[in-house]
Amino acid sequence: MTSLPAPNVRDEYRKLPAVDALLRRDDVVPLAIEYGDAAVSAAVRTLLDEARTAIAAGATAPPEADWPTRIAARLASKNRSSLRTVINATGVIIHTNLGRAPLSSAARQAMEDAAAGYNTLEYNLEAGERGSRSVHTRDLLAELTGAEDAMAVNNNAAAVYLVLSALCSGRDVLISRGELVEIGGGFRIPDVLSQSGASLREVGTTNRTHLSDFEQALTPETAAILRVHSSNFRQIGFVTQPTLVRQAALLHEYAERTGKRPLLIDDLGSGTLLETRAYGLAPEPTVQMSIADGADLVTFSGDKLLGGPQAGLIVGRGELIAALRRHPLARALRVDKLTLAGLEATLQSYRRGAAAAEIPVWQMISAPLDQLESRALNWQAALAAAGIEALVEPGESAVGGGALPGETLATRLLVLTPPAPHEYAARLRRGNPPIIVRISRERLLLDPRTVRSREDEELIAGIKAAWAQQGE
Ligand SMILES: *Cc1c(COP(=O)(O)O)cnc(C)c1O
Repeated sequence: MTSLPAPNVRDEYRKLPAVDALLRRDDVVPLAIEYGDAAVSAAVRTLLDEARTAIAAGATAPPEADWPTRIAARLASKNRSSLRTVINATGVIIHTNLGRAPLSSAARQAMEDAAAGYNTLEYNLEAGERGSRSVHTRDLLAELTGAEDAMAVNNNAAAVYLVLSALCSGRDVLISRGELVEIGGGFRIPDVLSQSGASLREVGTTNRTHLSDFEQALTPETAAILRVHSSNFRQIGFVTQPTLVRQAALLHEYAERTGKRPLLIDDLGSGTLLETRAYGLAPEPTVQMSIADGADLVTFSGDKLLGGPQAGLIVGRGELIAALRRHPLARALRVDKLTLAGLEATLQSYRRGAAAAEIPVWQMISAPLDQLESRALNWQAALAAAGIEALVEPGESAVGGGALPGETLATRLLVLTPPAPHEYAARLRRGNPPIIVRISRERLLLDPRTVRSREDEELIAGIKAAWAQQGE
């Protein structure tokens, strides 16, 4: 066995340039114009420290000529935002980890306009005095859902929390044992209830809850029945839950008998204004159906199937919404002007009847199979021209985001089979822009459904670049 002579540590240290010498170099000086003196000098010191540590561990000093590129690369990576734009090739449309719903161009434009200048967030132009920020979406939401009134808060978790805190605190809330769920990200219905000051009264069993279970659980202390949509799981087999209509009738009857009328609160989770059935998906309860069936308040997310910015929407009876607006928590949970601008533009697409055409989530859901196939085939051809072999196969996309669990849409996938798939996927994630893919049975699956066509070129370039790095 031959072994290389250990580098002489002291010689290696001596090869390291001085901080000042690096900062004075012609190819380093211009970096200060872009990043500022302090950042350049900090980058130089950090890189020198790292080189010293590496030498102490047995490495050699980096070649003299490499320093400018090392410094520039360090500054560029430091300067990059942590929140980066990525290409979502996973085929999961509402991907919570990747920012859920991409916004329509109308919503993006409205948000940019709101960001760039002043606006009538809380200003009444007619009267020339203070106005209310809730006016911007309430009429649209009321019109679209058939509810008397509406308000927007930070997200749906906040919406549920506000409703329970403001209207049920100190009293009982009845929930079916089949609906005591965790939504994800630590949002557990029993925990939210206890935080709100309401007491949980479990009703029925995990798989079967009957109307009579609710009937027997009603007491003068009951503030509400809370329904929680099973957004992210599906119960099959010997299961039953009473319908909203029957619960509404039960509460109506109870009120006639006792003079007390507990609320019927429906947390729809995703909530949709469009019929999912028309898109080949299982039926999701629509917000307007829930209102029509007798819910007093309905809560849902702005950035799931609605396809807008992050928000929690509460629609329902006028006097209840008014009480929510007056509650001190409403101020803490309120939405900002950018959200309101994006939300209003998104809702206007629904009013125009143009939601499916204009809102990316619905564009993706309704993308025709032949179009997906031709895009996958185009990717395949572009890669073949670069000597990269890929297959196009039938596969499935998911709606995701706690909507329509287990429901899939037929798609066409581009399949890559690099020798080390996980390493290759990591290389795609390190690209610019990063590309996120699915891996199944050691194969990389890329779904055109969630890749915007304007991203096609970057996607192909990213796949090629990562391919070229293999074996390096
Ligand atoms: C997603 C979801 C929530 C939480 O909504 P966010 O907008 O993410 O806060 C609450 N309830 C249900 C049923 C959900 O599906």
